[in-house]
Amino acid sequence: MHDDHVRESDPAVAEALAAEVDRQRSSLQLIASENHVSESVLEAQGSVFTNKYAEGVPGDRYYGGCEHADEIERLAIARAKELFDAEHANVQPHSGSQANAAAMLAVLEPGDTILSADLRNAGHLSHGHRANLAGQVYDVERYGLDPETGLLEYDALRERAEDAEPDLIVSGFSAYPRTVDWERIQSIAEDVGAFHMADIAHITGLVAAGVHPSPVGVADLVTGSTHKTVRAGRGGIVLCGADLADAVDRAVMPGVQGGPAMHNVAGKAVGFGEALEPAFEAYAEQVVANARALADGLTDRGCRLSTGGTDTHLVLVDLRGTHDILGKEAERALEACGIVLNANAVPGDPRPPKDPSGIRAGVPALTTRGFDERAMDTVAECIARVLENPADDAVRRAVTTRVDELCAAHPLYEASR
Ligand SMILES: *Cc1c(COP(=O)(O)O)cnc(C)c1O
Repeated sequence: MHDDHVRESDPAVAEALAAEVDRQRSSLQLIASENHVSESVLEAQGSVFTNKYAEGVPGDRYYGGCEHADEIERLAIARAKELFDAEHANVQPHSGSQANAAAMLAVLEPGDTILSADLRNAGHLSHGHRANLAGQVYDVERYGLDPETGLLEYDALRERAEDAEPDLIVSGFSAYPRTVDWERIQSIAEDVGAFHMADIAHITGLVAAGVHPSPVGVADLVTGSTHKTVRAGRGGIVLCGADLADAVDRAVMPGVQGGPAMHNVAGKAVGFGEALEPAFEAYAEQVVANARALADGLTDRGCRLSTGGTDTHLVLVDLRGTHDILGKEAERALEACGIVLNANAVPGDPRPPKDPSGIRAGVPALTTRGFDERAMDTVAECIARVLENPADDAVRRAVTTRVDELCAAHPLYEASR
């Protein structure tokens, strides 16, 4: 796929490229942060814009020859603003983590206090983990999810915020299957005199399509990844009001980055254009329906889900008490059958985030392949069987056969075969 030249010049890389296409086609991608972009997005990302330096913003660049880069970035910005109904969009962040770093830099001074959730509570490394720059530059206070229910308790968050007196509250999560009430968090932030950054990395596409409430126009800053549910290819984005526009642009460049990856900005332009089409809303609705079908299918077969279900694109399975297996073992056993997902901490997890008690499964990629609720129930059945019999060869063989059938029935990147 798109690799004729590499095949001639660099067989070693070409082999890995071809093998990866094959892997994506022949296994089920249930990593909740992953998706399959369109071939148009792939083409834009693999374009000559990788050659171009375009430091600055459209119309005000540090280098010449930027007229076409300007056009591409203006398209990406205009489409992002329309898609998210935002006053300002910066489409240059190389990823969601850079978007977060920039948004923090835009409103904080070193030593300021941020209040965020840690990895055990569905947070992200870039929210102030001590190994991340944010954890070293800012004073990090933490809030959690309810260890029993897995839910975000807004009154408890308010108490934490009154106690910690943060300069910034970070909301938005990597493994939270429920709707987030942005207004409630914003009012807490306002009451304690803090900025509010809503990180919608995972649910950018759900927000764009209106199947999850939007924090845009509510939170001071909204950050996201563009390669997850919104399917616009690898990258990040910051959205904000006109009041923070200049601070955000300066924080992205020169604050945390140099030249923008213009090939990825081109991918974002194409992906946002696709997300503005009515078909994308249908896609996002199907994502939520498929996640519910997966949740129901797993629950019916003896799995315990954190929060008891899902409103979004993912489920978080708490293996404690129901299964004699840990997250990592489950991840490995499922991958051996062609079901690719990840071990994940669950709220209240006594185990370290790298060797946790749960698994996380998301449906954005399978939904892109055309899976419906019935197919998702088959996926649930496969997962449940492996979780119950992780080392049983007959089960593994049977599940692998089902996975092969599902892949054959839902072809991927067909045009490039
Ligand atoms: C995925 C994710 C990010 C960004 O990750 P990148 O890999 O840097 O794009 C940020 N925040 C949350 C909550 C995420 O899940």
